[in-house]
Amino acid sequence: MSKKNSILIPGIAAILILVAVQVYVIKDLWVDKDILFDLKYKILSQEAMDQLNRLSRTDGFENALVVLNNYAKETLTDELGRIKSEEELRKLKEEALQGAYKILNELENLSPYLKGYFKRQGSEGDFSRNIEINYLQFLDFDNKLEIYANPAIFRSPNAQNDTLKGKPKSKILVNRFFREDNYYRISFDFYIDFSGKQKMVFRDMAIYLAMSIFSILVVVTILIITFRNLMEEKRLSNLKTDFINNMTHEIKTPLSTITVAGKTLEIEKIRSDENKILETARLIGKQSVHLNQLINLILEISMWERTQFQLDKKEVDIGELMHDIVDSFRTGNNRVVIQEDYSFKGQKIRLDVVYFTTMINNLLSNAVKYSDKDPVIRVEGRENREGIVISITDNGIGIGKQDLKHVFDKFYRVSQGNIHKTKGLGLGLYYVKRIAEAHGGSVTVESKPGEGSTFTITLPK
Ligand code: ADP
Repeated sequence: MSKKNSILIPGIAAILILVAVQVYVIKDLWVDKDILFDLKYKILSQEAMDQLNRLSRTDGFENALVVLNNYAKETLTDELGRIKSEEELRKLKEEALQGAYKILNELENLSPYLKGYFKRQGSEGDFSRNIEINYLQFLDFDNKLEIYANPAIFRSPNAQNDTLKGKPKSKILVNRFFREDNYYRISFDFYIDFSGKQKMVFRDMAIYLAMSIFSILVVVTILIITFRNLMEEKRLSNLKTDFINNMTHEIKTPLSTITVAGKTLEIEKIRSDENKILETARLIGKQSVHLNQLINLILEISMWERTQFQLDKKEVDIGELMHDIVDSFRTGNNRVVIQEDYSFKGQKIRLDVVYFTTMINNLLSNAVKYSDKDPVIRVEGRENREGIVISITDNGIGIGKQDLKHVFDKFYRVSQGNIHKTKGLGLGLYYVKRIAEAHGGSVTVESKPGEGSTFTITLPK
């Protein structure tokens, strides 16, 4: 498993588990809150009914039940005698049931009392009431008319346990009433139903929901940060490995030249030829200088890492300095065409000449190094409100979009398949950036693969 996957897979698994646990907990909490909501209003209803009973000696159905008694008496004496068929009896029962519902619904005064009581307790009073008759019988000395018996309650074998089967969950059973008088026997349930219940429970849950979403977000963010850090570390470690390979290669070349030169000096024929000795000695000297430069570069880089480097600033004529640098570069690279165009007009600026020269030289030598045809370089200089702007444009191989954002990174080299085709340690542009920044300035690059690149340095006045 790659390093990327080794953190990504457990990370995603951890998030999925976390989300699953959160969903489970929230769902459970939702159910609890729902039950708690019902319980609260059930208790409040009981209190309200107790109070109503104590204060007015009524259960809220007093009037309704007196009217029901008369209605039952009338039905038994006036209607029942006229029934001739089963069909007519069925109709009468249906009518009687509807009649009883109408009486209970219109004449009950429990719900206005409950509403008032809930509000006085600082709770929600906006509910709709629902009466459900379980059993209804009209009776006198001679007749007994069973009008209705809810099969779920009165006819199933485990009737008592089944009372709430099939009822919508949002309804709250306030009380089950059993009443009888001279002409009737009735059992009915009184429910209240809050239309805004889901919203109220949700409001109660909002803080838990927010906390759970927040905790998931925190974990996801931490994971993303860790993942990115890991990838960055991996990238740096790859760069370091490349650097060590390049470095070994760079050091090996002069070293093997010196070794060969040393061996040459051992040959008798060579030793007798003074010119050959001189030539070999020069070669050894040149390669030692190169080796020394390489080692100094590495030492310097590691020193830069630890300390802010010291600039020895002097006031210079920037136009003149640029021309001098470009001129001496031209001397060492006579194959290269360099066009210059400055509009400085004697502008003076304070900078460290040695570092500045290194910076421009690095850009010029890259322009030559990364070129697949005869190099044509254009060096421009001008000033604007912020400071001076120097740009170096080449007609080289250019840099792809992906590499463009990394070229100033330490040790970064654009991968070219064979990385040793052009020599380098991936430090040149890193140097350029560090030097520009040490002067309070910046460096940017624009490039098109196959067409060329422009490096632009901006330094404050
Ligand atoms: P080095 O030249 O030692 O590889 P640099 O830091 O100078 O390191 O450059 C980093 C990378 O940027 C190089 O490997 C090269 O691919 C790319 N690069 C730099 N300058 C140019 C340029 N003028 N044209 C095209 N590519 C360039």
